[in-house]
Amino acid sequence: MSDTQLAPVLNRRRFLALLAGSAALACNSRLLIRPVYAAGPFTLPPLPYPEQALSPTISANTVAFHYGKHHQGYVNKLNELVAGTPLAEQSLNGVITATVGKADQAAIFNNAAQVWNHTFYWNSLRPKGGGKPTGALADLIDHSFGGYDPFKAEFTKVATSQFGSGWAWLVKDGDKLTIAKTSNADTPIAHGQKPLLTVDVWEHAYYLDYQNRRADYVAAVLDNLINWEFAAQNLAAAT
Ligand code: MN
Repeated sequence: MSDTQLAPVLNRRRFLALLAGSAALACNSRLLIRPVYAAGPFTLPPLPYPEQALSPTISANTVAFHYGKHHQGYVNKLNELVAGTPLAEQSLNGVITATVGKADQAAIFNNAAQVWNHTFYWNSLRPKGGGKPTGALADLIDHSFGGYDPFKAEFTKVATSQFGSGWAWLVKDGDKLTIAKTSNADTPIAHGQKPLLTVDVWEHAYYLDYQNRRADYVAAVLDNLINWEFAAQNLAAAT
């Protein structure tokens, strides 16, 4: 998720842009007056497990729509919006920080942030995950919330109190952890926060399996799917 990890993609993109630029210069001198940007630079990262791997907590049908239609849709829309602009040359994190809070770039921010949020979400889950974490993360949860059960109660409360579409996050805040919620596409990384894990609470994340029972979905994800190894990696990177 870091810029470093995106570097090979950037390099390849720059290479392709150069290639496209040379070809364009050779056949169309009008393009000399402005730089040529490669179109469609953002791609849908592979799902870290098969679509049926989160079942029965999250069905293969939900994952197929959520990943294959919604997540892919944000990638496609983002590529469409940045094509031919300098933003097409940025990393995904770069696009998010360059467009946050700018009313005329809200559509780009929303789609870029949703690409990032969903990739982070799929990695926040794993088959046979959930339950209590161990090690440094468990200690920090005890220190921050007074134990795993109060953490779980607080996370569920925040996730269910997010009005309308959004996200619930476990975030590192100084030497403690806190639970945060964001609306629609908004993301902690746009505000300098360091998320450890997230649960998508847009209706498309749970409606096919749980209908309106968001609290049941959140509880089942915490019990069965949360990827504490991913959260521990993010904690180590943030410390
Ligand atoms: Mn979603």
